[in-house]
Amino acid sequence: MQIPFPFEDRSKRLAKLHETLARCFGPIAISSPFDPVTQLVWGILSGRTYTEVTLATIDAVRARFKTWEAVRDAPVREIELAIQPVTFSEVKAPRLKEALAQVSAEQGRLSLDHLKQMPVDAALSWLERLPGVGRKASAATINNSSLRMRALVIDSHHLRILKRLRLVKTAATIRDAYEMMMDELPQHWDAVMLDHHHQYMKRLGQTICRHGLPNCRACPLRTLCPTGQTPRERKRAIRQGARRQLPDRPMDRRMRR
Ligand code: SF4
Repeated sequence: MQIPFPFEDRSKRLAKLHETLARCFGPIAISSPFDPVTQLVWGILSGRTYTEVTLATIDAVRARFKTWEAVRDAPVREIELAIQPVTFSEVKAPRLKEALAQVSAEQGRLSLDHLKQMPVDAALSWLERLPGVGRKASAATINNSSLRMRALVIDSHHLRILKRLRLVKTAATIRDAYEMMMDELPQHWDAVMLDHHHQYMKRLGQTICRHGLPNCRACPLRTLCPTGQTPRERKRAIRQGARRQLPDRPMDRRMRR
């Protein structure tokens, strides 16, 4: 699949990249989003754990405790035993209990509904004061849940691909990538579109642009990606004026400030 480039601007390039992934992977299955508190729990438990393991653990915890209030009030050791299938359960258990307690103390009940009234950046900052909540978990809490706010989730798959596409610097963190992407993704994309974009990038990272050796020959983004191009393709792209769009050093205005 060929993607003509260079594009006039990075926003168009990202939109083309999304269209290409959508053609490759097909439509995203529609599923009911979690409520915000369950999504927050997901964010705290999911680090370095396979999605299916996190899902099964959340189901098991819900079956055992019935409510998140009961998890909040349970002894840490009991929570740790319940979440044992996820990695670092001994670290995540006290964080989970403390985060649920902090939300309850500040809101008078265990609810994140107030976030809906806040600007996106303020909602992210509010969540990131909670133990175990970084930019990935905060963005997922407001985007993937029924709050459906306009924040892009970037996980390790997504970040790796952005680096290989040279859209962010090699040393960029998830937070750096978030700032850049939120600036440059098409502004008319709504919360659901941002969710789909993340899911496509994650799927590419799980199947083709994997950790270790990427399978560039099979990649639908190859003609857009300096890492995946052969030297001849790279030269041709440069002749076509691509150097402005795909510099040897990634462009990131924010990080140059
Ligand atoms: S061309 Fe290769 S490095 Fe670039 S996104 Fe595809 S798999 Fe990853």
